[in-house]
Amino acid sequence: MVPVKRAAVLLLTRKAETVTPGDGFLHSETMNIPIPAVVRLNRYVAIPRQVGTSPSRRGVFVRDDWRCVYCGSAAETIDHVVPRSKGGTHTWDNVVAACAPCNHRKSDRTLAELGWRLPRAPRQPSGWQLRGFRGQRRPDPAWEAWLPRRHHELARRR
Ligand SMILES: [Zn+2]
Repeated sequence: MVPVKRAAVLLLTRKAETVTPGDGFLHSETMNIPIPAVVRLNRYVAIPRQVGTSPSRRGVFVRDDWRCVYCGSAAETIDHVVPRSKGGTHTWDNVVAACAPCNHRKSDRTLAELGWRLPRAPRQPSGWQLRGFRGQRRPDPAWEAWLPRRHHELARRR
């Protein structure tokens, strides 16, 4: 799965061709490019994996199932487990989904100071999970024929 803009660049540089057209157009100053749903690479080009990226807000919510890791109610904020004011980083192992009341109560204190515990250590999600964050929960039906079986099953289970 590649972002639409990246796919357009691959098409323009003739590194890929459209297999299945998608909906709509990408507009640039000089041209309109039909948005492809499926492209085929004409030769192998490295598609950078989304792994190792810093966590996006949405990514953290999806990983933590939109639940506050501290109390289990609906999460609407992102909490830094080790507060940024205490040197906590914005990395997968230090960000969790949290509800506003817990985030407020926690403020810039550490879990040890509060006597709170995490139900599980926050981790960077797998590549599969990460890629799922970027688009719809279910893959575009036009991709079905091209995706490994496992992806459909994952998508259906969500
Ligand atoms: Zn909470």
